[in-house]
Amino acid sequence: MVAAAYQAFYQQSLDQPDAFWREQAALVDWQQPFEQVCDFSRPPFARWFVGGRTNLCHNAVDRHASQRPDAAALIWVSTETGQKRVYSFAQLQREVETLAAILRAQGVQQGDRVQIYMPMIPEAAFAMLACARIGAIHSVVFGGFASHALASRIDDATPRLIVSADAGSRGGKVVPYKPLLDEAIQLAQHKPEKVLMVDRGLAPFERVAGRDLDYAALRQAHGGERVDCVWLESSTPSYTLYTSGTTGKPKGVQRDVGGYCVALAASMKHIFGGHAGETFFSTSDIGWVVGHSYIIYGPLIAGMATLMYEGLPVLSGRGASAEPDAGIWWQLVEKYKVTVMFSAPTAIRVLKKHDAAFLTRHDLSSLRTLFLAGEPLDEPTARWIAEGLNKPILDNYWQTETGWPILTLARGVADDSPKFGSPGVPMYGYRVKLLDEATGEELHGAHQKGLLAIEGPLPPGCMQTVWRDDERFVRTYWNGIPGKQVYSTFDWAMRDEDGFYFILGRSDDVINVAGHRLGTREIEECISGHPAVAEVAVVGVADALKGQVALAFAVLRDPARAATPEQAQALEGEILKKVDAELGAVARPARVRLVTALPKTRSGKLLRRALQAVSEGRDPGDLSTIEDPSALEQIRAALGRT
Ligand code: AMP
Repeated sequence: MVAAAYQAFYQQSLDQPDAFWREQAALVDWQQPFEQVCDFSRPPFARWFVGGRTNLCHNAVDRHASQRPDAAALIWVSTETGQKRVYSFAQLQREVETLAAILRAQGVQQGDRVQIYMPMIPEAAFAMLACARIGAIHSVVFGGFASHALASRIDDATPRLIVSADAGSRGGKVVPYKPLLDEAIQLAQHKPEKVLMVDRGLAPFERVAGRDLDYAALRQAHGGERVDCVWLESSTPSYTLYTSGTTGKPKGVQRDVGGYCVALAASMKHIFGGHAGETFFSTSDIGWVVGHSYIIYGPLIAGMATLMYEGLPVLSGRGASAEPDAGIWWQLVEKYKVTVMFSAPTAIRVLKKHDAAFLTRHDLSSLRTLFLAGEPLDEPTARWIAEGLNKPILDNYWQTETGWPILTLARGVADDSPKFGSPGVPMYGYRVKLLDEATGEELHGAHQKGLLAIEGPLPPGCMQTVWRDDERFVRTYWNGIPGKQVYSTFDWAMRDEDGFYFILGRSDDVINVAGHRLGTREIEECISGHPAVAEVAVVGVADALKGQVALAFAVLRDPARAATPEQAQALEGEILKKVDAELGAVARPARVRLVTALPKTRSGKLLRRALQAVSEGRDPGDLSTIEDPSALEQIRAALGRT
């Protein structure tokens, strides 16, 4: 059981939401007070803090710059390039204003979209905050995505301008961004007017005359210009962030200004326990939701310094005999006195391969809590890191759609102890339900498996809609349960007798590779574009390190293309290369197995779960509807091959 103090807090958030959220809203500055806490007159669409005017950049930067101008705001460390930079709140404000002035000079106005395709460099943070400042809607695309994935996001967001850089770097290897961006713009129907290029000097690139702009030159030209924050009505869109679903077309998760600002400020206080003047370190990437909420906005809104890290969790040893350094993060914790850290289970599993001694080599006395999220946290990993650090490890479960945790423990409210294997209990504001998928009935008993759903209105900070597609928002998230309009998370879960939840996996075709959410359909569409492939199925299978990996099963148009093992291997290599080039290495399946049939029902529906079960060496369950039972035998045989 969680403490009575949290139960009362949670109950108040459900019973008296107006009073509850009014109190949370006082954590942020409003230029104009709101008239209504929540307007849910058009369900499932919710508007929070109606009529209030605020600005995310003001709350993240200006209000701290005016009170504590010299306090650290953004600490950037790149072990890839050996660079470090620390910006105080006053310096951050100047950089953001300069970039805002550049955007304005290029004609970017309130409501325009600005796409951000960048590595983990400070300019990415300036760009996001500059957009927030002037009311432009930013849409960050993860730098690990390649040209086709980027092109489809450009076409959906239709940006006026794109901010990018010459290259990122991974494990000491330069990863050029510009050629992928140029190709994406070529592929896209929509052509942005301008591309603002940050040149890190890592990879020479071609400039498109009249379109590509040089950030360094414009920074000189606009340095010192003042650009005031635009006060935006609370439900004005602040950003979109694409996420994968069951179709090949990614969804633009759209968030507001005021609700998001309040939700993050409240989460910093009640969940993450971060205080102004301290340092927050999230190891995620700005391309993901954790990067938005807990590298950029959350810590800054709380007046904390945020540590932005470009590099791997384990540094390869320099020199032939040198050992890899698995202590870099803990060195940073010591150096910058990090108090709150946020990472993902896969990263911890990577560290776990190394001697635990490196965890205690540094002074970690500043660190209070390590939060892990994005994928299931297995018990051995949780125990290993909890014992190694001797700090509380808190799992937290949420989604791109929600923007902040749905399930965890609010230790700012009550000092509850986590249970291994469970992210915790519903957070304030979330009316969490477990439902029977077939009947829609609520499951009240302990240990019953159901779909995890949330009754509307979703609390502040959650998605408002799918960008430019209200109908898709309703159809995708709110119409899945018979007889009820509730938000579906698409996750299976159960609850124990103490009210702790356990996440049991996705109910749709979304897979989770190293905490990265990928749609199997997007990968399938890419592979089926290969001329040799007639049909393909991609499933997620359990993996000891990454949680899950994608596995592809392809049926060839002409089996003679892979008559010999060498031909099969060459073809597999070609297909994987295609995925790398179009979607990015992040989406690359672990293997492509060539088969002559896929398991299907008599009506032609792919038996994904059976395919996944067999791939994981499990019993495929009821096969009464299968058209050709030998298809699964073939899959088994293909898996037996190396
Ligand atoms: P994303 O939108 O990329 O954050 O992915 C969200 C999905 O990741 C959720 O729907 C879950 O399937 C999974 N997920 C996120 N956090 C956790 C967690 N703490 N435990 C288990 N699964 C998680």
